Parts: sequence; C-alpha cells; structure tokens
Amino acid sequence: MEKPLYPSKVMRITQGYNEGSHLNSFAIDEAGADTSISSIYAPFTGIIKKIYKNDANEVWLESIDKVEYPDGTIDYMTILFAHANEVNNLFVGKKIKQNEIFYSEGTKGDASGNHCHIECARGKFAGSGWYKNEAGYWSINNGKKPEECLWINDEIKILNNYNYNFKKIPTEILDENSSKPAPPQQEPTVQQPEAPPLKEEPLPKDPQQNLPSTSTETKEQLIFTCPKTDLYGIYLKKGEQLFLKK
Ligand SMILES: [Zn+2]
Repeated sequence: MEKPLYPSKVMRITQGYNEGSHLNSFAIDEAGADTSISSIYAPFTGIIKKIYKNDANEVWLESIDKVEYPDGTIDYMTILFAHANEVNNLFVGKKIKQNEIFYSEGTKGDASGNHCHIECARGKFAGSGWYKNEAGYWSINNGKKPEECLWINDEIKILNNYNYNFKKIPTEILDENSSKPAPPQQEPTVQQPEAPPLKEEPLPKDPQQNLPSTSTETKEQLIFTCPKTDLYGIYLKKGEQLFLKK
C-alpha cells in the first residue's frame, strides 16, 4: 500500500493553513528551493479527476487505491494542486504514477510568486471537488491537514516545515515501489539448504518427502531474526525454499 509522499523534493512552506487566503481551509503553499519554478511530484499513483483552467489551473488527483495516511487512516486520498502556468500535458482520466513529475509551481491565478497551492482531502473526489468556505475561499471537499496525509523521506530537504510535524517513512520498511529487494540481514552467512533443487515436475505424491521436519535432507535453518514486529518484504527466486524458525 502506498504512503503518500510530500510532492516537493524541497519543503519550503510559505503560507500555512487557516491563515490569510487559507482561512477556514487546510491549504498550504509550497514554494520549493527558491523563487524559480520547481517540479511537483505525484504523492501517490492516481487519476486526474478535474482540471479547472478558468482560475489557477487547479488539478484534482485521486488515488487509484486506498493509501496509508501517517495518522493511521487507510482510505482513498484526493489532492488539489493550483498555480501551474500551464497544464497542457494533463487531461481528465490521465493516470499518474507515484513520484512522477506531473505538475509545477507557477503564478496562474492570483499568486504573487512561483508556488504550488496544495490541499489534501480524505476519500475519493467528491461533488464538484470544492466548495466556497465561510471565509469566501474555494477549498477542497473533505479537507484534512497536510501532515495527517503526507509522509516525508530522506530525499526531501526541509527548509521550512511551518512547524508542522510531518512523519518520516521508517527506513527499515521496504519501499513497495523500489525495484530492488532489501538485502537479507545475514546475507553473507546464508547457506543453501541441502535439499535438491526444485524441479518443474509435480511434487512427489508421498507426503513424508515434503515435510522438512522429517526429512533428513532438509535442515531447518535460521535465515533472519526479526528485530521488531512489523511488515517486511522479501524477494525470492523461483525454486528457492524458505523455512521459518519461531
Ligand atoms: Zn495557497
């Protein structure tokens, strides 16, 4: 399950939520490393649900699957991005992969400097996507605080987090999107089980031959000691065998 990532590689929040033009909303403004135009990365794998070009090129991205929120919520997520100068490469229904550059900062709308206005919401795209709030600003339906929706990792440099406590993705958890498996913790000392290699033919009918505890050829072997209760990813090649010791 994906963990939604903060969409800029440099965090420099220039306006927080519930202040100024963000009154009565959980919107933030992300301005990137400097005053130039920075790229915006997709926080999760999603689908473009709406593009509103009449104002600030607002784009709504809805997660394709449920995602894991830093506060423990498991649900779909929808995020509104605004102020890109052009969105000609985007269309409703376009699929965007997590961490793909799909949007950029800009000044479209009434932005005074290059930034991206970001609003996170719990659940799928709802209604028209937004509503006019009590302060008179359009804000996303079902809005939720950004630090309760977005994770950070070591790739993201923090210049100004506006004192919001963004949670870091624990490094010991295998990134589901990584193409490389996590190395086994005791790789150098792993020995191949002395069992014969698995063949393409069906397994022998005799159940005795399939039980490691009674087989003289297959020894139970400690391959990994679990440091703490958690979920782990493991990469196995065809034919490799794995025995667990409690
Ligand atoms: Zn804003």
